[in-house]
Amino acid sequence: MAWVTWEPIRRQLCDRVGEEVALEAKLVYPAAHLPESPPRVLAHRCSHWADCNSMEGQACIWAGTHAEYDPFQFASAD
Ligand code: SF4
Repeated sequence: MAWVTWEPIRRQLCDRVGEEVALEAKLVYPAAHLPESPPRVLAHRCSHWADCNSMEGQACIWAGTHAEYDPFQFASAD
């Protein structure tokens, strides 16, 4: 049976919350009888998106409130 998990793929200090946050990918791993298939990426989110959405003003693309601002744009991969 396939299984789904969220895994951090990049980390970045975000000025909006003043701490390190993670860009996470929602991955679907294949069933055990397909061990050579790579996981598929279904979606991305920031680890602090819910906190940001409870604050006033626009946050970023990963909070869904600012389509042109990406704090992870220059972050290196984990
Ligand atoms: S959702 Fe965007 S603005 Fe908010 S903490 Fe994450 S990266 Fe920063």
